[in-house]
Parts: sequence; C-alpha cells; structure tokens
Amino acid sequence: MKKIISAILAGAVMCTSAVALAGCGGSKTESKTESTTAASSAASDKATADTPEKGANGELHMATNAFFEPYEYYENEKIVGIDAEIAEAICDKLGYTLVIDDMDFDSIITAVQSGKADFGMAGMTVTEERKQAIDFTDTYTNAIQVIIVKEGSDKVTKIDDLNTASIGVQMGTTGDIYVTDLEKDGAAVERFNKGADAVLALSQGKVDAVVIDNEPAKAFVAQNEGLKILEEPFENEEYAICVAKGSDLTAKINAALKELKSEGKVDEIINKYIKA
Ligand code: GLN
Repeated sequence: MKKIISAILAGAVMCTSAVALAGCGGSKTESKTESTTAASSAASDKATADTPEKGANGELHMATNAFFEPYEYYENEKIVGIDAEIAEAICDKLGYTLVIDDMDFDSIITAVQSGKADFGMAGMTVTEERKQAIDFTDTYTNAIQVIIVKEGSDKVTKIDDLNTASIGVQMGTTGDIYVTDLEKDGAAVERFNKGADAVLALSQGKVDAVVIDNEPAKAFVAQNEGLKILEEPFENEEYAICVAKGSDLTAKINAALKELKSEGKVDEIINKYIKA
C-alpha cells in the first residue's frame, strides 16, 4: 500500500501538504479521513506538512559510498543496508522517491553542497569541521573507530603502537582525520578510496593496521582470513545525515527520523543488519 502511495506521489509533483501527509503520515489504513489527516498534521512537525519540492518528480537523491557494510553495500545490483533502509523509510514518510547515487566517500559532501545530491548518508560521522561545510540532521546511531590488525602480528597491539606504524585508512574519513594527527609522531598513513582497499593492503602486509568504523571492520574481518579487531576502541562517534547548509530538508528529515525512532523502526532496521 505504502509503495503504491509513494508511486502515486512520485508522479504528483504538485501534491499538497494534505496529500503528502496522507501518503506518508504513517497511517496503515486506506480510509483516511480529513480529521485524521488534520490530527497527524497537527501532531507532526511543520517540516512534514510542507509540500516536498526538492528533486524533479519528487525524487530525493542520496549520495553514498556503497562499500560500507552493513550501512550500505551491494546485494547483487541493489544497494542495501541500514542507511539505505532508513533513507527509504524517511522518503516514504516525506512523500519522496529515493534514488541512491554511489560515489567515493570524499565526494559526498561536495555533491550535497553543490545540490547534485539532496542528502548524504554513508555512516557519516558528525564532526565540527564537516559542520562548516554542510548541516547535519539529528544522529541516528553511534559508532566506534576500531583498529584492524593481522592475527599473530605484534607490531600494533594497542592504540599507542600506531605512532610508529604504517596505517591504512579510507580517504576523507574520520579514521583518516584521526591518524593524520599521528603522522607528526612518526606514523605513516596510506590513504585508499575504499575501506576494502585498505583492508587488502593489510592482508598483503603493506600496512600494519587499518583504522575504520566498527561494523564495516567486523564485515571485513569476517570476509578476510587472518585479521582481527583490537579490543581497545579508538574513538566514539555518532552518525547523521548531511544536507546542504540552510536547507529546509534538515527539519523535514528530522521530523521523519523522530517518528521512525519513536515507532521503533530505526532500531528494527539496525537490528536486522547488526546481530547482537
Ligand atoms: N564514519 C566515518 C566517517 O564519517 C567513515 C564513513 C565511511 O567510510 N563511509 O568519516
């Protein structure tokens, strides 16, 4: 039913706020009355009551880097994962059709700034520096930067050992930012376009460690023999969606996110991909 409504809304660029709400306000019944629409309109933030304007044909383009399991990755031709599903749920609520654009991680913020993409969602950590360039929505989950090493290697067994190690990171990530600080202490940093390439370099003995987010780290370790994650966490972080500075999409996404959180939908999606 929701799919059908989204499809109709996708065609109806000019949909009014009432129609948009009827399509995305969360009612599961077909017999929505004026009064329930009015009630949900009053209950929801102003953001969801506005007519969606961004994106031709009611599409919202999400910029991501789809090599970041379990947040975004390819299953056959399709990009799936926690971010993909939360984005889909947000778009359902707001009456947009989601289109996912895959690119290098360090192109995402530029794409959002330039309007090439409407928002960026890529396991992206909220940082003060990024906030200078784009706006962040409310956060939707926490994460940790961890260190992956080769099993049996004693070169890096704790954070302090990074100072004298060669470290692989994904370019432009917070892992990159943190270890850049260590370069002046003697760390040698190798930057890769994909986390997977950093992990490959580790497997091949070209770097001593990789600093990357915990969940992708677990996926990489599961897929590559002879690697392990150090128990000592490197840095705690929070993920949010990034939007062009000053865009009214921030408030709309926040309103949708708030509903999805209180409905338990965000937890449900996360638990589907991350088993306790
Ligand atoms: N959380 C990290 C960051 O925001 C890595 C994100 C990613 O590689 N997709 O920089």
